[in-house]
Amino acid sequence: MPDAHRHHMSPDEFRRHGRAVVDWVADYLERVEQLPVRAVVAPGDVRAQLPQSPPQHGEPFAEILADVDRVIIPGLTHWQSPNFFAFFPANNSGPSILGELLSAGLGVQGMLWATSPACTELETLVLDWVVELLGLPDRFHSDGAGGGVLQDSASSATLCALLAARERVTGGDAALAGTDQPLTVYASQEAHSSVDKAVRIAGLGSAALRRVATDERHALRPDALATAIAADRAAGRLPCLAVATAGTTSSNAFDPLAAVGEICHDERVWLHVDAAMSGSAAVCPEYRWIHDGLEFADSYCFNPHKWLFTNFDCDCFYVADRAALVGALGVQPEYLRNAATATGAVIDYRDWQIPLGRRFRALKLWFVLRSYGVDGLRAAVREHVALAQQFAGWVEDDPDWELAAPAPLNLVCLRHAGGDAVTQAVMDRCNDSGAVYLTHTRLDDRFTLRVSVGAWQTRREHVVALWQRLRDTATAVVADAD
Ligand SMILES: *Cc1c(COP(=O)(O)O)cnc(C)c1O
Repeated sequence: MPDAHRHHMSPDEFRRHGRAVVDWVADYLERVEQLPVRAVVAPGDVRAQLPQSPPQHGEPFAEILADVDRVIIPGLTHWQSPNFFAFFPANNSGPSILGELLSAGLGVQGMLWATSPACTELETLVLDWVVELLGLPDRFHSDGAGGGVLQDSASSATLCALLAARERVTGGDAALAGTDQPLTVYASQEAHSSVDKAVRIAGLGSAALRRVATDERHALRPDALATAIAADRAAGRLPCLAVATAGTTSSNAFDPLAAVGEICHDERVWLHVDAAMSGSAAVCPEYRWIHDGLEFADSYCFNPHKWLFTNFDCDCFYVADRAALVGALGVQPEYLRNAATATGAVIDYRDWQIPLGRRFRALKLWFVLRSYGVDGLRAAVREHVALAQQFAGWVEDDPDWELAAPAPLNLVCLRHAGGDAVTQAVMDRCNDSGAVYLTHTRLDDRFTLRVSVGAWQTRREHVVALWQRLRDTATAVVADAD
């Protein structure tokens, strides 16, 4: 019989190749600044360079890694580049990458406490640390009725919040409420598309979502929320969930959590607060105003995988009362019964999320928190905010440009005085140059550039160069149009 085991990588081979990969990653992070930030490939280019069938025989590891350089790297957009100012940050860091490697190396499943106790207990501890780190309300700490869990994304957190809200408002009889009394959900016009998705996945139907009007700062208007809820009640519908955003994706607007929270409290509507990107700012006490009123929230989430140096995926999701969440998502098949669960003394995180299986995500966040310390995280976030604020100041002082929205933290929205066409042309030319990457939004129905600062290698020189490039490009665009 042939020895099947010879196909596995031996520990010695793993040591050798593993060191090569760690060196490869270090080299990549060192040279990423030199690469064109945005991928310069046409659809199908990447695939066309690779075999269309899997190899019959195993290939040498060095050849596999060489193909990463040859084919994969040119087909990537480099989110870790210091010249990446697009969308939102999705930063990583050395400690996070190494925590991720350890998690893969351990390969444990943390669906139950019993399937790897340390996986669950470290997660609960780290999430409690984060309550302190961000100054979150005590009700999210695991020593009370609430607690936190790591989800893959803010989208999953929003969906879980909706399922828990439905559980609470219907007393667990979702089917009955769905037919007799349609459930309704509220979020501002600027709330993330993951709210639409959650409403659809939960089976409420897109019509169940009320997009509530915003004010001149693009924040949700509490009076409009109250009116919408009252109208639905009058029509016999059952208001279920409101999603408030602390830092909208488009323009970094902050919904007034206290005013929204009071309405939700009086109306017995579940309030979920989505702080996916901006929650990280609260590591600094001077930015904790972003969470004013959060004590009203039934659930909350933010993404360390955006702006807290923890590579994707890592979303911290908290509930004030875990009973509704576990009521909505708990399962107990025979093959998962065990003594620890039966005592009720342990957390089984399978009941706090959609999938059953779960990996050891807490490890990388724990590595980040320990490696940076509170001081290190504050310094890094403060630097990004300071850079964005300097940039916003330059925009304000330049008669050819204007701020398109308030820029309280690390996102700056701007437009050229020449109008939509000029602003868009400037963005396209800058992106085509490969030197930087920016994306856009529409605010007040006008084309708006977004400059999002948050890659860990971004320094002042990169932001200075970006501003110079934007101005030079605008001069060229305007000259070409004349
Ligand atoms: C980025 C973002 C999301 C989506 O985050 P995922 O983790 O990718 O699901 C949701 N809401 C806000 C406000 C965001 O900034």
